[in-house]
Amino acid sequence: MLKKFVMPALLAAGLLWLMFGADREKPAQMQTLAMGTLVDMTVLGLGGQTNHAVIVSAMAQLRTLETQWHPDARKADGNSLLADLNQGLQQGQTLSVPPPLQGGFEQAARYAEYSEGLFDPAVGGLVKLWGFHSEASFPAAPPSEGDIAAALPAKRFDALLNGSQVTGFDGLRLDFGAFAKGLLLQEVSDKIHAEHPQASFLLNGGGDLVAVGQRPDRPWRIAVRHPRQHNKHLALIELKDGEAAFTSGDYERFFDASTADGKSQHYHHIIDPRTGWPSVGTQSLTVLHADAGVADAASTALFVAGDDWPQVASRMGVTAVLRVAANGELEWTKAMAERVELTPSEDGEVPLPRLRALP
Ligand code: AMP
Ligand code: MG
Repeated sequence: MLKKFVMPALLAAGLLWLMFGADREKPAQMQTLAMGTLVDMTVLGLGGQTNHAVIVSAMAQLRTLETQWHPDARKADGNSLLADLNQGLQQGQTLSVPPPLQGGFEQAARYAEYSEGLFDPAVGGLVKLWGFHSEASFPAAPPSEGDIAAALPAKRFDALLNGSQVTGFDGLRLDFGAFAKGLLLQEVSDKIHAEHPQASFLLNGGGDLVAVGQRPDRPWRIAVRHPRQHNKHLALIELKDGEAAFTSGDYERFFDASTADGKSQHYHHIIDPRTGWPSVGTQSLTVLHADAGVADAASTALFVAGDDWPQVASRMGVTAVLRVAANGELEWTKAMAERVELTPSEDGEVPLPRLRALP
């Protein structure tokens, strides 16, 4: 009896599991260039073919969103919604925000307000003046003091937005580079999760990540880059289901140039809207949050805040922060300390960051 019926049934069940069950656990993975970085997506839990199809459609969605949010006209794929809007805003016009951009504009206005303008998409003119908007190359020297002063935003982004209307000023160029990656990865993540609640996935945009669900073998993990040592990481963080990790760093887009007294100076892409110059005080800053848009906007705002970052974190509703200050010293919050595994330095010492309390 056992041999005749049960064994074949068990065998058949085993075979079926091998065909479909094991396949379910097999992740699909693909990469594409988007938002100026390499985006790597991993999906599992739906079966090999579906995992793959979900990535293909997520990448198409990302490309559509990316085109909508690009700040400048690009010949290759026509004008984006934002590029078209910027054309009128730089002449001081009042225009309707196109519906696909409205949600992002509202969120960005809140973060500009909460951060008291340290995160401010109205800095786009300055970003362009410094040359950091370019996807090709960066300039050899900083702009003149006069040009920087003239490019300081006349108004903060949240003061330009009135419902679905936005009013520009002379030279305004809205640039959502500090927030769009988070916003877009969150939108892509929300769509995958709504359509496939049982899917587990990792969306990795050049080291900024959104993780959903679980891998069967090990947790989703992120290596935080060492801001001064190439190919070395500072820390490992295990991401929870539905969590995003975003880092702002002065090593991402930059140029080095000599000052009048012959010293080499590092000029990077995160601009302090109060001065018009690259922000000083921080090398890199990582934020964990359940919303990737918040994590992204906050990583930039807290970077610009320098030593005062805990106040800004608290206003933006962020609790898990790891910062490398300009002098290389580490700081973190309690919520981050509970999550991070710091990498020992060459002499085997594990650094001990300074604990900063949030007000
Ligand atoms: P992130 O890497 O997220 O910190 O974003 C940096 C990018 O955001 C830059 O390349 C600029 O396009 C833009 N940006 C620079 N400074 C600011 C700022 N203070 N507020 C908003 N966007 C900024
Ligand atoms: Mg950011």
